Amino acid sequence: MQDLPITQQPIAIASTLPRKSRQARVVWRNNVVTVGGDAPVRVQSMTNTDTVDAVETAIQVRQLAQAGSEMVRITVNTPEAAAAVPYIREQLDRMGEYVPLVGDFHYNGHRLLTEYPACAEALSKYRINPGNVGKGDKKDKQFGQMIEAAARYDKAVRIGVNWGSLDQELMARLMDENSRRAQPWDTRQVMFEALISSAVDSARLAESMGLNGDNIILSCKVSGVQDLISVYRALAQRCDYALHLGLTEAGMGTKGTVASAAALSVLLQEGIGDTIRVSLTPQPGEARTQEVVVASEILQALGLRIFVPSVTACPGCGRTTSTTFQELAKQIDDYLRGQMPLWRMKYPGVEAMKVAVMGCIVNGPGESKHANIGISLPGTGEAPAAPVYIDGEKALTLRGERIAEEFQALVENYVARTYGATAAAPA
Ligand code: SF4
Repeated sequence: MQDLPITQQPIAIASTLPRKSRQARVVWRNNVVTVGGDAPVRVQSMTNTDTVDAVETAIQVRQLAQAGSEMVRITVNTPEAAAAVPYIREQLDRMGEYVPLVGDFHYNGHRLLTEYPACAEALSKYRINPGNVGKGDKKDKQFGQMIEAAARYDKAVRIGVNWGSLDQELMARLMDENSRRAQPWDTRQVMFEALISSAVDSARLAESMGLNGDNIILSCKVSGVQDLISVYRALAQRCDYALHLGLTEAGMGTKGTVASAAALSVLLQEGIGDTIRVSLTPQPGEARTQEVVVASEILQALGLRIFVPSVTACPGCGRTTSTTFQELAKQIDDYLRGQMPLWRMKYPGVEAMKVAVMGCIVNGPGESKHANIGISLPGTGEAPAAPVYIDGEKALTLRGERIAEEFQALVENYVARTYGATAAAPA
C-alpha cells in the first residue's frame, strides 16, 4: 500500500484575490456609492415596473433599496419615461430614500438625455449599450451625445455590452478578419473578442470625448456560466475600469440562482467584479427583491460583505420527523431579514450575528455553541426540550407549544442587549 504524503505545511486558507481597478462614484445628494478600487463589491438591481408610472416605480425602487440594493436601474425608453424620472426621484427623496438611480438607455438615449435635462440630472448613472446606440456614421455621434450629457452633469456611465445586442458591424468585421487568419479562431472566441473590444473601445472613445475615465464602469454580459468566466477573465486583464458582473437572462428560481452563484463566485474569488446584479426572472407571485437577496447572499457566502445575520440550520434527517425546526428556521430567517432596515440604523454590527436552529442533539448543541444564539430542537425520541445557547453557553431550556415565539423574543432581546446604544456606551 502506498504511504500517504505527510506534510508539516499548514493548509492554506482560501481568500479572494485583489484586483485593483479605478474607482467610480455614483452619487445622489450625500449618498456616495463608490464602485471599484478598495470599495466593497456593490449590489445592484433593476425595476420591472413601467417607468411612466412614477409612484409604482418609486415604491419598487424603495423596496429594492430596503432589501439592500445600493443602486437601482430603471428603464428609460420613451419621452414619457424620461419625463417621469424626476418625479420618481422626487418621490424617493420625499421618503428619505437617496439610493442612486441608474437610467437604462437603448436606441434613443441620445435624444432623451438631450431633450429631458431634468431626467439627465435626476439620474446618478447612465447605462449605455454600445450595440444599441445607432448604426454607421450615426453611431459615434449619438454615443457622443450621451457621453456629453454624462460629462456635463458629472454622472458615472456603465458601458454595458450584452451578447444579445452585440454591435453587429463590429462582429462582422472581426469575423471577416478571422477568416483571413492562418488558423481561424472558434466562432465563440470571435464573439468574446467582439464583446470585450466593444466595451473597451467604447470606454476609450468616451474618455477621448471628455468623460472622466474613473467614472466608467464596464460590463460584458452573456448567459452561459463558462462563457461569462472566460469573457471577464480576459476583460479584467485588458483594462483597469471598474467591472459590473452579471449573468444575463439567468432564468427562474433555482436554475437562475445557482447559475448566477456559480459564475459570479468563480470571478469574485479571483478578485474580478466591483458590482453585481443577479438577473432573475421572478416566479409568479415572487417579490422583485429576490434578486437582491440572492446577490447579497452570494457576497455574504464568499465572505466579501455582511448584510444580514446568518441562520445556520441543519437539513433534517431521519432523526427528526416533525417540521418544527424547518418552520422555526424559516420564521427566524424571515424575521431577521424583515428587521434589517430598522436594525441597520439602530443596532450597528448586528448583521454579523449568527443564529443556529438545529434539529436534534447530534450537531445541535455543537452548532448552537458556535453561534451567537442557537437552539437545538428535540429529535425523534428525545425529551421534548429545546436547550438555548447564548454566546457559547447553555442559557436555558424551552418547552411546550410556544418555543418559536419564545426563541424569537430571546433573539430580539439578545440583539438589543448586544448591539443597542446602551451596549456600545462607555461604562
Ligand atoms: S442535527 Fe440532527 S436532525 Fe439535523 S441533520 Fe444532523 S442528525 Fe439530522
